Amino acid sequence: MQLIDGKTLAAKIRSQVKEEVERLNDESEIVPGLAVILVGDDPASHAYVKMKAKACKEVGFYSIVHEMPDTISQEEIVATIEMMNANPRIDGILVQLPLPPHIDTERILEVIDPAKDVDGFHPYNVGRLVTKLPGFVPCTPLGVMKMFEEYGIQLQGKDVCVVGASNIVGKPMAALLLNADATVTVTHIYTRDLAAHTSTADIIIVGVGVPGLIKAEMVKEGAVVIDIGINRLEDGRLVGDVDFDAVAPKCSYITPVPGGVGPMTIAMLLSNTLQAAKARAAR
Ligand code: NAD
Repeated sequence: MQLIDGKTLAAKIRSQVKEEVERLNDESEIVPGLAVILVGDDPASHAYVKMKAKACKEVGFYSIVHEMPDTISQEEIVATIEMMNANPRIDGILVQLPLPPHIDTERILEVIDPAKDVDGFHPYNVGRLVTKLPGFVPCTPLGVMKMFEEYGIQLQGKDVCVVGASNIVGKPMAALLLNADATVTVTHIYTRDLAAHTSTADIIIVGVGVPGLIKAEMVKEGAVVIDIGINRLEDGRLVGDVDFDAVAPKCSYITPVPGGVGPMTIAMLLSNTLQAAKARAAR
């Protein structure tokens, strides 16, 4: 069994981004800029935004965080996004999810200029992903693809079971895998017999939010297991969706939590924002 070390790979990508930022700055005086919109006081969202802002600073990005109370209106969020759309120093706009229940998330995401949609959640970029056209790809599934590339894990013709079908994780993951010629099964909360699908898969990718969901008997000998889940247990421990200790001995490759997919997500956000800044430089 080989551990897929997301922490080390993410650090390598971040240092590549940093070098490219310096080069871009030398050649065009452009500094990549990221604006983050953070609504409410969810501690996990605040922690993620803090990590993103720190990562931006480390690679030499300009970044701003718009913090808003959870009583904010839809119109005020829209107005802030429109301001960022028009701001020439901002290359990427990210709305930290989830938004409070009175806000129409899909409508908010549609307001972001697709050229600044570094999270890849705008329907324009979703459509481009599905049709295999260049565009912004959601950071978490993109990070998983980078892991496959780095570790030489082939996807063509492989049976891949994606567990979880959200717009930000499972669905774009499935689109990327299809684009890479894998045979993809997408499972979710209404799937009748999850184990029947996972136990025949060459690769299992799980992003659900249920600790211990994937057990040893659900995994084929020699499978690759990618754990996207992030769950905080009552004792404070951070775990994924896979029963790691029992599953790991059966795997050819497996990602740990923490230190697996999590760091890759932030590295991909930096990479997407750099891509947006380069497009600005080319205009
Ligand atoms: P979500 O709640 O939007 O979607 C969860 C998905 O899991 C749904 O499709 C649902 O049908 C499915 N599901 C729920 N219970 C299930 C079950 N028992 N069996 C099979 N499927 C089930 O969540 P999300 O935003 O997609 O996040 C999923 C997990 O991934 C969470 O733990 C989240 O913290 C984590 N996450 C991690 C990263 C990262 O950077 N590593 C990024 C985003 C999300």
